[in-house]
Amino acid sequence: MITEIYDRPGKPLMQNSQHVVIIGAGIIGAASAFQLLEAGQRVTLIEPGVPGDEQASSYGNAGWLSSHSVLPPASPGVWMQVPKWLADPLGPLAVRWKYFPKALPWLVRYLAAAWTYPQVERTAQALRSLLKDAATLHQTMAERAGVADLIERRGLLHAFLSRTHFEQDAKAWAIRKKEGIQWQELDAPTLHALEPDLDPRYTFGVLVPETGSCRNPGAYTAALVRHAQSRGATVLQTQATGFRIEEGRLKAVLTSQGEVLCDRAVIAAGARAKALALAAGDWVSLESERGYHAVLTSPKAFARVPTMFADCKVIVNTMEQGLRVAGQVEIAAADDIPDWRRAEILRAQLMTLYPGLPRDSGADQFKLWMGRRPSTPDGLPCLGLATGSRDIVHAYGHGHVGLVSSARTGRLVAQLATGQKPEISLKPFSPQRFQSGFNN
Ligand SMILES: Cc1cc2nc3c(=O)[nH]c(=O)nc-3n(C[C@H](O)[C@H](O)[C@H](O)COP(=O)(O)OP(=O)(O)OC[C@H]3O[C@@H](n4cnc5c(N)ncnc54)[C@H](O)[C@@H]3O)c2cc1C
Repeated sequence: MITEIYDRPGKPLMQNSQHVVIIGAGIIGAASAFQLLEAGQRVTLIEPGVPGDEQASSYGNAGWLSSHSVLPPASPGVWMQVPKWLADPLGPLAVRWKYFPKALPWLVRYLAAAWTYPQVERTAQALRSLLKDAATLHQTMAERAGVADLIERRGLLHAFLSRTHFEQDAKAWAIRKKEGIQWQELDAPTLHALEPDLDPRYTFGVLVPETGSCRNPGAYTAALVRHAQSRGATVLQTQATGFRIEEGRLKAVLTSQGEVLCDRAVIAAGARAKALALAAGDWVSLESERGYHAVLTSPKAFARVPTMFADCKVIVNTMEQGLRVAGQVEIAAADDIPDWRRAEILRAQLMTLYPGLPRDSGADQFKLWMGRRPSTPDGLPCLGLATGSRDIVHAYGHGHVGLVSSARTGRLVAQLATGQKPEISLKPFSPQRFQSGFNN
């Protein structure tokens, strides 16, 4: 039997205030709650776990507020790597054999979406509109939530083995330049003056000053949710299962504990959003792109500036919990057991990247984690109104850039839910863009 579990009078509200239910309290749900409350709406968050805890991708990411991360995950010619992805289960990008048939349509779209450089440029333009000013937007939000100390503005560093390696990536950097992104190039002495603990094999660096980083993404997410609660939001610890829609108008969100009556809903369930999107009338291409981290809890060497290593595609960031190395892409079912050998690879890489780390830093000094990036094949999130009811907002699929893009996503969600014109064009992010062609 369905019970109505929510209909409480909220705090005094602005005129035309609506009750908005947000499904999922990861960073996208938390930032949406922040902005909806700013817009005078009444908010309920539905989350089966603890907000910002280990079940969320938002817990364990690399903390990069990388407003320059505008390139899609695939690139022209990357299809040649597919046999390698299948043959090497422990490579930086791998597809589990038994999941391959299921993932195939997504993989085909993934390759097709970045087949040519003009396509990549269009994606970069769209992502830039979402990511621009991200570090400043996060600073403002963190200050308001009382956790300004979690956001740092030291820029972000890319470390290359040599200038030649950087030049091999010239096309990608040219696309960034076209989007107005500026950087500083560092020769070996400057790089090592900035990062004295770095492996001397790295002799060239690129510093992107407009960016920032988060010292504890899980705590940041949790703080935004606590802030929302202090402004009258309710958190219900349950799972959303669908919607009650009557004549195109949303009446309630269905949960495993009953109905939650509401005027609007936001799907912010990360990698698990697909079934809810379908219940809202839209089929979307969404995979869980699993990633891992290893944290050395008491590091004796560290990264002064969060650093991406171009050759091994990992990010190292000194966080509240210790020295975190994050990376790896594994296409596998969301609920498949983690392959901890991947996190062990990250652990071993960390030891070589910072040779000052004691050789006896054993496995017991590391904390390992696996997370699920909510990934669309074209690297663009789904942001827009649902086909089944214009009262439902899609807000998921942020893949590798969910933390950095969450600040503007929250604003866009509030604009969509309150009927305002979105501050950027949402055409490239249309949740309906996958509805032609093959499905999985
Ligand atoms: C290793 C790694 C490194 C990364 N590094 C970065 C980085 O440096 N910078 C960056 O910008 N991004 C990074 N990302 C990506 C980023 O973490 C994600 O894009 C982002 O966290 C997605 O946020 P989300 O709120 O959509 O999803 P999540 O954080 O996964 O939150 C979704 C929430 O929805 C809840 N939920 C699921 N189903 C339901 C349901 N039916 N009902 C109610 N609630 C539900 C879940 O419990 C969860 O708490 C990284 C990811 C990984 C894995």
